[in-house]
Amino acid sequence: MFNQYNLDEIIDRARGAFIGMAIGDALGATVEFMTAPEISAKYGTFREIVGGGWLRLKPGQVTDDTEMALCIARAIVANQGWSIEAIARNFATWLKSRSVDCGDTCRKGIRAFMLDGRLESPPNEWDAGNGAAMRMLPVALYSVPDELMLKRYAVEQAHLTHNNPVSDAACICLGELLHLTLCGAAKSRLLRQVEGLVARFPAFAFAPYRGLATAYVVDTMQTVFHWFFRGKSFEECVVGTVNQGADADTTGAICGMLAGAYYGMDSIPPRWLKKMDKKVMAEVDDMARRLVAASPAGRSF
Ligand code: ADP
Ligand code: MG
Repeated sequence: MFNQYNLDEIIDRARGAFIGMAIGDALGATVEFMTAPEISAKYGTFREIVGGGWLRLKPGQVTDDTEMALCIARAIVANQGWSIEAIARNFATWLKSRSVDCGDTCRKGIRAFMLDGRLESPPNEWDAGNGAAMRMLPVALYSVPDELMLKRYAVEQAHLTHNNPVSDAACICLGELLHLTLCGAAKSRLLRQVEGLVARFPAFAFAPYRGLATAYVVDTMQTVFHWFFRGKSFEECVVGTVNQGADADTTGAICGMLAGAYYGMDSIPPRWLKKMDKKVMAEVDDMARRLVAASPAGRSF
């Protein structure tokens, strides 16, 4: 159970996380599919929210990463609790609304739900894309600080589209890192958590850093870990991450949620906040507060 001081801090960090995620997504989308040398030749260090990219986005527009996280958040808030059917229905409505982008594995799982109501994809070696991990934030906010609830819901939401032990491990570890961060843990504690992941799944080792940032969840998480642990501010963590290019909206979104939770709302550069889509900012801010308030541990306040 949270006391009032903890709750205020957790809410500040939760808002930082959801807003940070949207910012990382909008920033990274401009350089998605570029290589690090291409980004450096075109921009030097890329650090402004300008839109464009292969999706021809408006400045401050978010993509599937933030939109899928919002589908989960809305389902929890509207149901006042966890409903995997409600999440699947929101994904289906979102896909039908001609989402700006959608990963292949995500699309396959959502289509199977639309066609025959399937709520769990069969196990698949090739389901280790980052599409399940990128939408973990609302699960972490709603379950904080209950680890068992986190694990159950992380895997349930992941298996709608991705049924793979490496994806599951990434989802759970990211959720645990978010729980720890929301409750004020230092980076040294977070690093121990990642070392636990690496002990079980050595592929996630990120030192020496290989510099890959593809949509394979191992590459994605290595890039996030590398830049999150070496960065000294929200901006440094997110800028380092997206300048690796490749799946930069998703690496940006995941690093943005972690760094936003770690450094808090005050750390987010106002120039980035100003550029963001106002409607999305209002909704992620509202959802962050509501998810923490709806969490069974936080409900007593
Ligand atoms: P999403 O997970 O967002 O739906 P995609 O399915 O479009 O994304 O992309 C996932 C990427 O991850 C693909 O390029 C795929 O080749 C890669 N991938 C998935 N599983 C593995 C694996 N086991 N090993 C290596 N790469 C993988
Ligand atoms: Mg995206």
